[in-house]
Amino acid sequence: MKTDRSHALFTRASELLPGGVNSPVRAFKSVGGEPFFVQRAGGPYLHDVDGNRYIDYVGSWGPMIAGHAHPKVLAAVERTMRDGLSFGVPNALEVTMAEAITSIVPSCEMVRMVNSGTEATLSAIRVARGATGRNRIVKFEGCYHGHGDSFLVKAGSGALTLGLPNSPGVPSALADLTLTIPYNDFDAATELFEKAGSDIAGLIIEPIVGNANCILPRDGYLQHLRDLCTKHGALLIFDEVMTGFRVALGGAQQRYGITPDLSTFGKIIGGGMPVGAYGGRRDLMSQVAPAGPIYQAGTLSGNPVAMAAGLATLELIREPGFHDALERSTHALCDGLESAARDAGVTFHTVRAPGMFGLYFREGPIETFEDAKGSDSARFNRFFHAMLERGVYLAPSAFEAGFVSSAHGEAEIAATVEAARAAFAEVA
Ligand code: PLP
Repeated sequence: MKTDRSHALFTRASELLPGGVNSPVRAFKSVGGEPFFVQRAGGPYLHDVDGNRYIDYVGSWGPMIAGHAHPKVLAAVERTMRDGLSFGVPNALEVTMAEAITSIVPSCEMVRMVNSGTEATLSAIRVARGATGRNRIVKFEGCYHGHGDSFLVKAGSGALTLGLPNSPGVPSALADLTLTIPYNDFDAATELFEKAGSDIAGLIIEPIVGNANCILPRDGYLQHLRDLCTKHGALLIFDEVMTGFRVALGGAQQRYGITPDLSTFGKIIGGGMPVGAYGGRRDLMSQVAPAGPIYQAGTLSGNPVAMAAGLATLELIREPGFHDALERSTHALCDGLESAARDAGVTFHTVRAPGMFGLYFREGPIETFEDAKGSDSARFNRFFHAMLERGVYLAPSAFEAGFVSSAHGEAEIAATVEAARAAFAEVA
């Protein structure tokens, strides 16, 4: 496999960008080796600067649910950008986006657009604190909510991948306000609320954990959290930056039938452009400036080109049967991988939700963060490279969920499973 150009770029990048990248997991630190540099992408494929092609199961970490460079998304972007890139005054596309989000996600009666998932979660906890007059927040070990100070406490994703679940630079006085409990542990949540419930502004959760590989909620767990929050006057915040518009059109809250007070979004609603959003109950969101006193703002928020890309993507995924097809593809992929592993005699397990999956080099079930951490990550790393050499790009970390798009057809899934047969044999 030719890698000369990527290597040369990474060498230059490493002099100028910390770790050679603009976001940590991209550097391949945990899987080893060097990242490839992308030239272009289309449908389910990435093409690198050395002419290699990969079936892509990262999808820019989630936004590309309809595949890369979808013609309808590109057309919307091209049309919109001709009228100007950013105005700093209201434009109609922001209203259309707010209407789309609030109609798809009924718990969001009002919404505010921002520029990333991180901004969305930071803003949501500010609303929770501002509205309740309380300071403490609750998060779950292994969940990642972006790189805001309050969230870099026992966090997943890159922080976990690099073995840095707490970051220098986070004031301990602030970190002390973040209480952490194990995901899927009913009693831990009950006990925490019994002890500290009157101080808790909000509980934020990835309803399906996608930043500690992939962990699904136990039956009744999300309802349990809903009940605790209601009982103790804390706000339930679903971080649906990853699951939103993916695991069902209306996200995990639709899939599990839970109504959070606030929700955060990103990724898919930007269609590949930098976008985030937070929204929720009208009485809470109407406390956000300038309607109310809780301050939050953004120079580029509601950017017309980003709105156009997001709206075009939402139109694609609102097609009847879109999520059913995504679910079928996810099952086909995961069943195929499990069968290939079995044939090679490799202990392996997958966890799936529509359009996302986790790969575990251990036996199931996987229900807790401890279960997830028990996967053989050294073996995953070897498998990752064995797949990459065969033209399949998995998330470059044993702790990140993978993503399937509507562009992954039977041919790509069959080719992936074929590659996996050889890769499993190599790591057996
Ligand atoms: N919340 C979740 C669940 C995420 O997965 C991510 C990013 O992967 C974020 C928040 C942060 O979003 P962003 O990277 O757009 O800041």
